[in-house]
Amino acid sequence: MFSYNDKVAVAVSGGKDSLSLLAILAKIEEVKPKSSIVAVTVDEGIKGYRDEALRIAKKSCEKLKIEHHVISYKELFGLTLDELVERKKRKANSKLTACAYCGVLRRRALNEAALRVGATKIATAHTLDDEVQTVLMNIFRGDLARLAKEKPVTDYVHPRLVQKVKPFCEIPERESALYAYINNIPFQATPCPYASEALRNDMRNMLNSMELKHPGTKFAVSNSIARLQPAIKKTLAKADFGECAQCGEPASSEICKVCEMTREFA
Ligand code: SF4
Repeated sequence: MFSYNDKVAVAVSGGKDSLSLLAILAKIEEVKPKSSIVAVTVDEGIKGYRDEALRIAKKSCEKLKIEHHVISYKELFGLTLDELVERKKRKANSKLTACAYCGVLRRRALNEAALRVGATKIATAHTLDDEVQTVLMNIFRGDLARLAKEKPVTDYVHPRLVQKVKPFCEIPERESALYAYINNIPFQATPCPYASEALRNDMRNMLNSMELKHPGTKFAVSNSIARLQPAIKKTLAKADFGECAQCGEPASSEICKVCEMTREFA
């Protein structure tokens, strides 16, 4: 996942997974003199939730002596997620959940933060649980393009898209939580107020109950998709990456998803 001289932007939300990842990568980086780490946090603008996470992330970075960079939706897109949700409520035809918007905006924000700090990789703390939830979500939505694309190391598709890696993709969430507890890493335990409406929540509950009844289910799903991905990819037309006609950012269609979404709420 890493090269000896990478500058790694670690996506730190303030939760247990990202803070465990930051602590582990900081340890590894100590013995890799040509590599460096910067922590990046995306402030979506979720009142009463992100403020606490930001404080925890900042303190952890200070303790580990790691530079911390914060980027916000307000600065990048002109509105916070709370404001977007408020406007969404007034639109009868808007069927997407807060998380559907947030996911698209966060991907852009993280990439922008990584570009600003000159990072060569973005490391995110997606665990085995997150990965298999995403697999099932893509199957339930019939989104084969995403099913083929979501990998532990993303493909290089455009010079402005920083490569993403997921070092925890084979680590069950419970183990990353255990690491945080054992190492006395403070983290935010309060869930996001919008999380309950997300499809991911249903996938999490379903997978946890399957794992309880049939241990090994999560690893089995993860291994199956890794083997199936090359075959799925062959069935899809190759997506040509160009630039969005509106904002100039990398896009596989004329107008990128971020512009589509922000235009909806302009
Ligand atoms: Fe964004 Fe949804 Fe995550 Fe909340 S739970 S931070 S709305 S993606």
